Amino acid sequence: QKEQWAKLVNETTITKDGQHVELAANIGTPNDVEGVLRNGGEGVGLYRTEFLYMDRTELPTEEEQFEAYKEVVEKMEGKPVVIRTLDIGGDKELSYLDLPKEMNPFLGFRAIRLCLEEKDIFRTQLRALLRASVFGNLKIMFPMIATLEELRAAKAMLAEEKDKLISENIQVSEEIEVGMMVEIPSTAVAAELFAKEVDFFSIGTNDLIQYTMAADRMNERVSYLYQPYHPAILRLVKMVIDAAHNHGKWAGMCGEMAGDEVAIPLLLGLGLDEFSMSATSILPARSQLLTLSKADLQSFANDMLYLDTADEVEQKVNELLGTVK
Ligand code: PEP
Ligand code: MG
Repeated sequence: QKEQWAKLVNETTITKDGQHVELAANIGTPNDVEGVLRNGGEGVGLYRTEFLYMDRTELPTEEEQFEAYKEVVEKMEGKPVVIRTLDIGGDKELSYLDLPKEMNPFLGFRAIRLCLEEKDIFRTQLRALLRASVFGNLKIMFPMIATLEELRAAKAMLAEEKDKLISENIQVSEEIEVGMMVEIPSTAVAAELFAKEVDFFSIGTNDLIQYTMAADRMNERVSYLYQPYHPAILRLVKMVIDAAHNHGKWAGMCGEMAGDEVAIPLLLGLGLDEFSMSATSILPARSQLLTLSKADLQSFANDMLYLDTADEVEQKVNELLGTVK
């Protein structure tokens, strides 16, 4: 099987009925890019920038960040690279920020909430991203958006930093796509509102599932509630994809679910455009997608939204895969 996968490294991902979907990778550092290319990644769907900020005693400078972002987009040679702005807080702490302990860190002061308040930290990152944008196909994504006001505030700061750079005669790409993570139920339910004001969505199922099911993603005792195939989750995913398409935008997924072989047929049938996963999952996912027909899976996937339980969904998909294999 490994040998068969290896043959697919330089292939694009075309379904049996000729539909292209993009298989991208999640990375944490520039060093991960090599593995992405070796595994045939068509892009980077999520660059988690928080690792630049962790395990150190002070904030990374604009220059340091610029070098890291530039390295990633250059090494990807024009392939799309979605860089997510700082998603700190929750399970990821920064000792040097000295933030007060919270009762519910996953529901607290994290990610975009922190960035919109700690404006210097955010502006420094935005400048580094904008400067790196001329070296490749760089896209910017905001994490943990819950309201339109947050999205608008983040976009406004990005526009301000862009204008400043231009007035300093520093080059910035004119083609940067700006998107957001959909990982809070409010944004999935009201995806139509957000779709008008972004270029793309990326569904963060790791958090979307924990918030929808009210089950801490780190807590073993409640892990039975962490159900990617729950019809409620599938319905949210569909709402997000449909909202994006209704507004001519694309929808990806960068949570673990995107690389899951039971989820993939469902996501393809629901119309997902981009699947971002750990690099080692890309070739298995490509080999699976080559055997699937998007058109055939459309009504199947939509039927799954109306089953009673996650177990029933999983069983139906497994039956289906048994017939395709
Ligand atoms: C997610 O929430 O699904 C996601 C991709 O982000 P993270 O795992 O970094 O929270
Ligand atoms: Mg998340």
